[in-house]
Amino acid sequence: MIEWADHAMVLRMGRFREADIWLKLLCKRRGLLTLFAFGGSRSKRRFCGCLDVLNTLRCRVSTARNGSFLNLQEAVLLTGPQALRQNWRRMALAANCLRFVEAFDINGEAAAETFALVEDMRHTLDAGSGLSSLFPLFFRLRLAGAMGFAPLLEKCGVCGGPLTGSVLFVVDEGHLRCTNCKAERPTRYGVEVSGGGLDLLRRVQRNFPSDWPVEDLAPVERRACAKAIDGFVQYHLGLTWQNGSFRRV
Ligand SMILES: [Zn+2]
Repeated sequence: MIEWADHAMVLRMGRFREADIWLKLLCKRRGLLTLFAFGGSRSKRRFCGCLDVLNTLRCRVSTARNGSFLNLQEAVLLTGPQALRQNWRRMALAANCLRFVEAFDINGEAAAETFALVEDMRHTLDAGSGLSSLFPLFFRLRLAGAMGFAPLLEKCGVCGGPLTGSVLFVVDEGHLRCTNCKAERPTRYGVEVSGGGLDLLRRVQRNFPSDWPVEDLAPVERRACAKAIDGFVQYHLGLTWQNGSFRRV
């Protein structure tokens, strides 16, 4: 029997048989895993009543002898939301972000940054201060970055020159074109983004949710940013939102 310990957030859980629980956990070092907590709905001693979505736990885990499943031996609550569970709108936002995380095979390399991002997302939603209406989209862009798919936002992707004023976000190439280059080369998957929109995308990419802008742009600029992020995520991560879950496209 192999044993290990890690910090992990509960993304989803459910019961099977009478007293047993399955959990989908985002572990800080090991990434996304499904575990079983046998007797999880009864054992106060081993789980302290802390098995709940959005809680961060310190877990002790063993691998079954034939390696076929992971067994949660013990869990202790480290942190969890305070007010978030009473706010159904924000719980829906949190659930949308968690479903997005679950759609990927998050492994060792991206695990630590994804874990920090998801904890900060929970903290931001829990704190109750203002949020941009694009918050779920920002989360998808930032998670793409944590997984190694960040669009190049600092300079023109064609000539390498600086970006001023309105630029073209080229969804399939994952870069921007300056005013000169966008006129020279046609593209089918371009979205015009204003200077304000570009500034917003950069701030989202560089920071965690607690430092994302909360003030919304003018509707036209906001729609352009939403279209650019949505197109980028669909093209590079191959996921779209359908009937309550993210599906491969
Ligand atoms: Zn250029």
